[in-house]
Amino acid sequence: QPLSDWAFGPAPRRPTRQVRIGGVAVGGDAPVVVQSMTNTDTADVASTVKQVADLWRAGSELVRITVNNPESAAAVPRIVEKLAMMGIEVPVIGDFHYNGHQLLANEPACARALAKYRINPGNVGFGKKRDTQFAQLIEFALQYGKPVRIGANWGSLDQSLAAQLMDENASRPEPWDAGRVLREALIRSALDSAARAVDLGLPAERIILSCKVSGVQELIAVYRDLAQRSDFALHLGLTEAGIGSKGIVASSAALAVLMQEGIGDTIRISLTPEPGAPRTQEVVVAQELLQTMGLRAFTPMVTACPGCGRTTSEFFQELAKVVQEHVRAKMPEWKVTHPGAEHLTLAVMGCVVNGPGESRHADIGISLPGTGEAPAAPVFIDGQKSVTLRGENIAHEFVALVDDYVER
Ligand code: SF4
Repeated sequence: QPLSDWAFGPAPRRPTRQVRIGGVAVGGDAPVVVQSMTNTDTADVASTVKQVADLWRAGSELVRITVNNPESAAAVPRIVEKLAMMGIEVPVIGDFHYNGHQLLANEPACARALAKYRINPGNVGFGKKRDTQFAQLIEFALQYGKPVRIGANWGSLDQSLAAQLMDENASRPEPWDAGRVLREALIRSALDSAARAVDLGLPAERIILSCKVSGVQELIAVYRDLAQRSDFALHLGLTEAGIGSKGIVASSAALAVLMQEGIGDTIRISLTPEPGAPRTQEVVVAQELLQTMGLRAFTPMVTACPGCGRTTSEFFQELAKVVQEHVRAKMPEWKVTHPGAEHLTLAVMGCVVNGPGESRHADIGISLPGTGEAPAAPVFIDGQKSVTLRGENIAHEFVALVDDYVER
């Protein structure tokens, strides 16, 4: 497809089978869904409930929790019950490795309470037990009417499959390089497991696939291939993306390329939280990625210049922060009272060079005075100069104008 065909927007979404996870649709014509995962000890009910609630309030539409031992499995129904009592109906997904078949067998209430099971085909079990234990997990999904994500990860690749593909590759007339063999092993692990689940009776509309790697180019290559070879809904994520800006940039680079090509039905940004940073940061990044690409709208977006020697102070940076934080904080209320507010565009600019122009492009924008300019900050509303703010209270008055704009 020539680039010019979709140079001004993403390619049409790749058609996928729609999967329902609790009340949330993933795939098909549903918007790309934001999800995240807790890092609390699941057995600690209070901490896990709090973090799930925080992630949900930040905008996570699905939340995954690890279920790794009998204590955490026993805690799951209490977690889901407490969330429901708080009015939080977010689907809670159980992340299983190694012993999922035992935990689900021993804790039927856990199996019932979870909205989806995540199964890692590389960690289901080893040798002869692998097939039996995978079948047991699928039988629980059938018994309790749950969807599953078959989530392969190259950090826990099915080693017997990798070895088999290495052998097959050695007899090719033109052998692939080792990277391609590993990519194929990852994809085959997901696709073969999904085919087995279907054979066991699980409808394809209850299966989501993922094949996570930690390299940007590898992830793009894997998902392009995966998307061509099946119509299962796909969960995107760069696994172990890293800490801080590196994790944000790497995840955004990989996921943006794929989503621009119409690939991906749900995303997670797997950030290593910086010390003291809230877990919710990964949800904000996921939302901003989708919104800046024009795929979804969650909260009014603030355009702001970087500032330069023409700005007289850091005041305009502070104003940009205050305005972005204000609209983000107001959005849960506006979502109910003023639906559509999430599409609002705002501009906070540092001087007259680009300030008035950028402010006119926004629904509401302000151009602060730069060095040598008159101490006046014109505000533009719907492209027209509306009022000029001066003095100490510019931030407060501009925020009030934003609220007034939304109100009207
Ligand atoms: Fe500098 Fe003005 Fe451009 Fe902002 S708008 S970066 S203050 S020249």
